[in-house]
Amino acid sequence: MPNLFLLSPIPNSADIADKLAKLNLYCYWDLALHIPLRYEDLTKIYPVAQIQVGQQGMVEGKIISCEIIKRKTSQQLVVKLEDNGFVISLVFFHFFSNYRHQYVLGKIIRAYGEVKQDYYGNKTIIHPKIQAATAQTQLSESFSPVYPTTSGLANIALINLVNDFLTQNLLEETLPLGIKQRYNLLGLAEAIITLHKLTPSQYEKNEHLLALHRLKYEELIAQQLLMQRAYHNKHQLDAPSLFSTQQLIAPFLAQLPFKLTNAQLRVVDEILLDLQRPQQMNRLLQGDVGSGKTMVAAITALVALENNYQAVLMAPTEILAEQHYQKLQKMLAPLNLNIVWLAGSLTPKQKRLVAEQCANGQAQLIIGTHAIFQKNIEFAKLGVVIIDEQHRFGVEQRRSLINKGNANLFPHQLMMSATPIPRSLAMSYYADLDSSIIDELPPGRTPIKTMLIRSNRRQEIIEFVKNKASLGCQIYWVCPLIEESEKLELENAQHTYEELTTQLAPIQVGLVHGKLKPKDKAEIMTNFASNQIQVLVATSVIEVGVDVPNASIMVIEHSERMGLAQLHQLRGRVGRGAVESQCVLLFEGDNLSQIAKQRLKVISSSNDGFEIARQDLLIRGPGELLGQRQSGMPPLRFADLERDIQILHDARLIAKELSHSYPKVSQYILDLWFYNKQVYSTV
Ligand code: ADP
Ligand code: MG
Repeated sequence: MPNLFLLSPIPNSADIADKLAKLNLYCYWDLALHIPLRYEDLTKIYPVAQIQVGQQGMVEGKIISCEIIKRKTSQQLVVKLEDNGFVISLVFFHFFSNYRHQYVLGKIIRAYGEVKQDYYGNKTIIHPKIQAATAQTQLSESFSPVYPTTSGLANIALINLVNDFLTQNLLEETLPLGIKQRYNLLGLAEAIITLHKLTPSQYEKNEHLLALHRLKYEELIAQQLLMQRAYHNKHQLDAPSLFSTQQLIAPFLAQLPFKLTNAQLRVVDEILLDLQRPQQMNRLLQGDVGSGKTMVAAITALVALENNYQAVLMAPTEILAEQHYQKLQKMLAPLNLNIVWLAGSLTPKQKRLVAEQCANGQAQLIIGTHAIFQKNIEFAKLGVVIIDEQHRFGVEQRRSLINKGNANLFPHQLMMSATPIPRSLAMSYYADLDSSIIDELPPGRTPIKTMLIRSNRRQEIIEFVKNKASLGCQIYWVCPLIEESEKLELENAQHTYEELTTQLAPIQVGLVHGKLKPKDKAEIMTNFASNQIQVLVATSVIEVGVDVPNASIMVIEHSERMGLAQLHQLRGRVGRGAVESQCVLLFEGDNLSQIAKQRLKVISSSNDGFEIARQDLLIRGPGELLGQRQSGMPPLRFADLERDIQILHDARLIAKELSHSYPKVSQYILDLWFYNKQVYSTV
């Protein structure tokens, strides 16, 4: 344990320790950061005559009556206060009968709350906070903080704990003076004290905002220090140094029907340089739907193979993994490689065989799902691990895979993101990785036109599809998850399939869903690819990876239920050829939630995955976008990634400066924020 007073446990009686734990309050530092939700102004007394209806405030007066008023089904205690000839009523719906005796006629009390108007137009406070007042009762100088709390722990208990702590003057400045001045920041102690003990004059000068501003800096600096340390740790792991011999890559590129885009070339260069270093690559590859990430993954794997190392390509679902498998098998066929498929659905015997080939090195490229993580899978010489849709894998899972290297050499890691990550997230939670971005689509693509259509016009859309199909277009018709049930999704798709088969005859309609045998699924996809099927009804199976360039129309039912990333992925199945593509989003117009409305607006007005991701972050917040990655990582409490992007930029520079020139300060900040906290560390 570092020698830090601020990390010592909060002294308290045993009976509230568990309550404090519920609020994640363990040490002084936690207490310091437990800032009020709001404040109550007990610093002044309003004359009853002047306080306004709707205003919150404290009044003082003499008790002139106290009675219990009985109604048919309820009763209430009404206490009347008189102040300079004006009267205000205090009303309690919940009370014990002995309350009555506390409100002795003639006694002076203070009451705090929001002033309302009763039926007769009289000023009233419902359930006010009460203070007895004598001539000596001092008004407090600062606002009274109202803390987030939990049942059984009174606000006053927290106030006392915080006060005890603040009087000890334990808060030391973390930032060097030069940095504080450069960024115009309040002192740390000043900021924290201001927030707990805000005075009316500070409030008037907006000093609570300056204080929060400082905490946002502090929080993001801590986060950046953590990520930079993780970055540093990862990039120190030994890994095989892999130089491309071009033996496989050159013939592979030569037989492609197209040239790599400049963005693909640039990203490939970045990766090739990483692979040459004898330290582990940790790179995140981002690119919009259809930008050609698979090609980059293939080339990365080939470098390993050229050096007699094995490569793994892993995806979070069997469908996605299988699409990679088929695509790569086809693309790499001329090279005569041993590409192996490994997923949970293999029979035990098949699995044994694959495990054997992984262990003896015969398997060169292994494509599959989580099954690759299993203990009994060992590799002879694993050089590169490529993980698609990395956010859907947990930290532990990835760790178990990188430990499958041998001779103390860790495999290089390339993580791919099927949907772009907003810049602010990439700069914060992904700052432990290097980043490559494919910011260009292959040439010859025409932008997709997206239309929002209410589902009561579904029949018109069927006519539209019929018309387009008879002109030679190919169409996807997607029936996504209706309830949280795969079975219902399937029934629904089946029903639509029958309906469209009848209505569109003689146009050929096909149906593809997750429950089909791989062979049958492959056959249907082949028929669609070769235009023997014009309209393909599908469940969300086709979300990722499916690639039929001639398909130019996509209809998505119940689009209001889908997330932005999923819609963008789905829509990315069209717009792959030269003809203009259209995407029809059918939505149920009744009871459309606010979020659904926002999503539909975003998806229909943008084709840019990065912009859509940014909007998604605004709508959903970072928690969900981060998926598994965030588990164990404390969420931000003060800063907001989108609003505070400038602070994030600054924090990144400050963290660099601190770790370079002030290692002790860096360590101090890291200890304060993360010591003893479960934080995701070094995968
Ligand atoms: P994603 O980035 O969404 O995974 P894919 O790798 O599936 O994209 O590629 C989308 C489509 O673009 C595929 O049909 C692929 O063969 C094609 N493609 C990839 N790179 C190029 C390129 N440089 N020029 C033309 N087409 C390309
Ligand atoms: Mg892909």
